[in-house]
Amino acid sequence: MSGPLELGRVPELGTLPETMLAVVIRPDREGDPATAMRVEEVPVPPCGPNDVLVLVMAAGVNFNGVWAARGKPVSVFKMHQDPFHIAGSDASGIVWKVGSSVRRWKVGDEVVVHCNQSCGECPECNGLDPLACPEQKIWGYETNWGSFAQLTRVQSQQLLPKPRNLSWQEAASYGLTYFTAYRMLVHQAKVSAGDWVLVWGAAGGLGIFAVQLCKVLGAHAVGVVSSEEKGELVMRLGARGYLNRKDYPGLCYAAPETPERERERLIETRRFGQAIRDLSGGKDVDVVFEHVGRETFPASVLLAKRFGKIVICGATSGYKLDFDVRHLWMRQKQILGSHFCNAFQAERANQLVLEGAIRPVVDQVFPLHGTPAAHALMAANHHTGKMVIDVQAGAAAEKAPGRGAGLDLDGEQPVLM
Ligand code: NAP
Repeated sequence: MSGPLELGRVPELGTLPETMLAVVIRPDREGDPATAMRVEEVPVPPCGPNDVLVLVMAAGVNFNGVWAARGKPVSVFKMHQDPFHIAGSDASGIVWKVGSSVRRWKVGDEVVVHCNQSCGECPECNGLDPLACPEQKIWGYETNWGSFAQLTRVQSQQLLPKPRNLSWQEAASYGLTYFTAYRMLVHQAKVSAGDWVLVWGAAGGLGIFAVQLCKVLGAHAVGVVSSEEKGELVMRLGARGYLNRKDYPGLCYAAPETPERERERLIETRRFGQAIRDLSGGKDVDVVFEHVGRETFPASVLLAKRFGKIVICGATSGYKLDFDVRHLWMRQKQILGSHFCNAFQAERANQLVLEGAIRPVVDQVFPLHGTPAAHALMAANHHTGKMVIDVQAGAAAEKAPGRGAGLDLDGEQPVLM
């Protein structure tokens, strides 16, 4: 078959075209996602011995698509050799072709994809953690052939069973952020029952899962949000309380900072800390869940209790951090870096979705050509929870009512906004 597949239709199993439609970023148009990303016809990627080609039913939108479009702080074209980039680090889909060495999966399997790639051969992969592999990369960000395309190429170890209780769109929405939150809270911060956890951006992609995980772990999440509607969502997901950061306008760090402004910010941070204690019955937080970076990090370090932990995986507001280190050492706090997760952790976390203990929160679903607009919304912080791109799923919903249509036939209802 020479031309691309018909968009939104599932062809006969195994039909492999030579070209496909994909949302493409090119070096000469890096910048605003609305203009950097365009639908183009490109070749279907080759499939190596340990690879799998997946027919993408739906693809999740993540902040790394914004970074890839902007080409900042790092251009993706420094990370791989292809002259174009297909972003997308979350997918649900159907196994369409398997490489000659693949044993665990077969054509026709319904899957979701975790986004960590590694060599699989080095001592780190085989004894320490694939995240420590010298060749470790995030698929669809540091590698090409991500999920905003009709077909995507992944390593077979990236596949996980698709939860049957979720539509294609819901299944595509959670992997990257949920699995990241799982490693941050379960493995890095080792949150335990009774802990109090401050969750920045609690209604965002990471936050919705951090809040739910705290509940599963028996810990108490206090969410930080920027609207009352988001606060209500966070409460529905199981938070013990929330704070609207708009009520604390002096909380954020902004450079350059005069001594007077620093004093004001500290006073505001202490007022914020008192509001947390009002919610927790007087307790400071054991763990701060960080991903905002420059603007919130000084507050995070101050707000963690003595011997508390700040676990961080990102820096939306800037990655050069400026904070008073005395607040760290005098009270013996720890800063823990965290980055996505390994396949074992993803499998464990996926099991909680299969059991209905963790639920996706799908905000909006876009067609493939809406991918740039979805990323522009994310860049402007005009979304809640997760956004999803419907690639081939439309036809599947017609063929199998109740799957791909957002319905849950036999499990707990996912949260649809
Ligand atoms: P998201 O869906 O945009 O959610 C982030 C939330 O943070 C927003 O909903 C917003 O909530 C809050 N926020 C934004 N700017 C803020 C500020 N200046 N001060 C306080 N809160 C602010 O993004 P996400 O998917 O959760 O990802 C967040 C960051 O983590 C991104 O930078 C992403 O690249 C990174 N990340 C890293 C990994 C990894 O493996 N290393 C994995 C996932 C994500 P309110 O406006 O409601 O407060």
